[in-house]
Amino acid sequence: MLRIDNIKLKPGYSKKDLEDSIKKVLKKVEYKDYKILRRSLDARKKDDIIYLLSIGVNIKGNEEKCVKMINNKNVMLIKGKKYRFPYSMNQFNLRDESSDKHSDKSFEDHSDESINKLSDKLIEISSDKLSEDLRPVIIGAGPAGYFAAQILAENGFRPIVIERGKNVTDRKKDVEAFWAGEKLNNDSNVSFGEGGAGTFSDGKLNTGNKDKFGIFAHIMNVFHRFGADEAVTYDAKPHIGTDRLILIMENMRENILKNGGDIRFGHKLINIEEADDQKDSNKIYDLEISDGKDIYKLRTRNVILSIGHSARDTFEMLYNKGFRMEQKPFAVGLRIEHPRKNIDRAQYGDKYMDKLPAADYKMTYHATNGRSVFSFCMCPGGYVVNASTEDKRTVVNGMSYSGRDGDNSNAALVVNILPEDIAGNNPLDAVEFQRRLEEKFYEAGNGNIPVQRFEDFSVGRKTEKLGTVMPAIKGKYVLSELKSCLPEYVSDAIIEGIKSFGTKLHGFDNNDAILSGIESRTSSPVRICRDEDLMMNDHPGIFPCGEGAGYAGGITSAAADGIKCAEKVAQRIITNLNFQ
Ligand code: FAD
Repeated sequence: MLRIDNIKLKPGYSKKDLEDSIKKVLKKVEYKDYKILRRSLDARKKDDIIYLLSIGVNIKGNEEKCVKMINNKNVMLIKGKKYRFPYSMNQFNLRDESSDKHSDKSFEDHSDESINKLSDKLIEISSDKLSEDLRPVIIGAGPAGYFAAQILAENGFRPIVIERGKNVTDRKKDVEAFWAGEKLNNDSNVSFGEGGAGTFSDGKLNTGNKDKFGIFAHIMNVFHRFGADEAVTYDAKPHIGTDRLILIMENMRENILKNGGDIRFGHKLINIEEADDQKDSNKIYDLEISDGKDIYKLRTRNVILSIGHSARDTFEMLYNKGFRMEQKPFAVGLRIEHPRKNIDRAQYGDKYMDKLPAADYKMTYHATNGRSVFSFCMCPGGYVVNASTEDKRTVVNGMSYSGRDGDNSNAALVVNILPEDIAGNNPLDAVEFQRRLEEKFYEAGNGNIPVQRFEDFSVGRKTEKLGTVMPAIKGKYVLSELKSCLPEYVSDAIIEGIKSFGTKLHGFDNNDAILSGIESRTSSPVRICRDEDLMMNDHPGIFPCGEGAGYAGGITSAAADGIKCAEKVAQRIITNLNFQ
């Protein structure tokens, strides 16, 4: 395949514009087909905003000769970097039982049809090998858990997923009822349930990390395969939106089940014990699972612990059982809302603002009190949501739909918390720190989300009347006073930060901008310690995974960590089988 870089197109370009540009670069060389590999927006010059594209082209003729003939520095020959899961029960059995038939095809062709044809036959073979205690158990159906489950299931490892929340359809009903003013369901909310914290989200998929092994590209392909727009596979800042994410989670669930996985909603891990009757040096665990009525034991040698950053009761249980944990840096702050059109105009100018997707921003500032203030989880054309998980504690976050066409654009503005801000060295002290703040915001809003105009916040005055900006919030809100709910070093830094951001993005320091809080779950405040092999060294077979364990931040990195843990689990299972 040839790669053509640096194709420049105006906003609103057509398919023909793109194809004309490809032909122009290829000169006389004809192409068979093409694929957009990457697309980013360059909005640095407001009167000349352009899309920059990289295109992969399959050409007619010898590729090397054609590259020479085209003689353009933006055209090169590439080899596709495709992520491959290195272990498969299917492959293992093929090798084991009919090695001559072994082929790598299961990895090459990821169409549903080919996977199912292969696994239908092979799972049957593998099931007698894969004893129940070797089946991996995945705690949590967030991006980390579901991506681990999906790849393990497709490779014949028949994972069991334990999720305290409900399936995404029933979960949506609970979330909407809560936003309408009904009581919070502590196990079915914006953070808990199928899809995890990533479901009622903005669904932005970009990460700051390099895609060394093609895992991120693989994740985008999986999202696309289960219902995301193809653009996620090439946009520099891919985005899905809550409405689509719900559908994607349903499709992933179907696929996991179809490939021999088991998913148990409304089932919560409440205890882990080492089994009394260890058969060999490889530890066996008895997981105590509550289904809401009864408690049962699930015996396994391999556990992926992908519980997310809000599973405080599970953190407590693990800590009390002696699982090694440590404090981790985190940040707290507020959400800020501006009219979407104002942000679009400030970023794109009048000429292009209606032709481009809702604009985003990323801001950082070093405050005079030494703290960093930064924007986080920006949701263009989105909503602030009540993302609480515990009674009498209020938490906000941001979401959007796929169209990103809400009236406001919002982002978290958060300030880093230092170890000395938290009394004590117990890793769970940071959770208590979050809880105290969440309680203050609950009280300030009398159970609703407290909101305040920026001008009132900066002078510590309760907002009595909204100005030109109306909140776009999912969940009930009340006008309130937020400054006194925050530590002074946080509110001072936020005020300075907003003023400074106003010098970079016109209107950011608008007196009527809406603030709400508290944004306290930006990342996990604890890390569950694991070694290089991704297991806990004192609990072999237990793999702390994803954001809650402290190894990811965001949907894509959590999914990638899920896949990495799945690789190690699969390797362990295959090694175990070899020694049986
Ligand atoms: P989680 O998604 O938190 O999943 C953990 C799962 O484990 C949950 O479903 C929970 O119910 C379950 N669980 C916990 N304890 C137990 C137990 N004891 N037994 C059984 N099950 C248990 N990130 C982005 O990259 N882009 C965004 O646009 C974005 N927007 C967000 C918007 C909102 C409203 C929120 C809340 C988060 C957003 N995030 C976003 C962050 C992102 O959702 C998380 O980084 C990601 O979901 C972490 O994935 P995870 O699988 O590690 O954990």
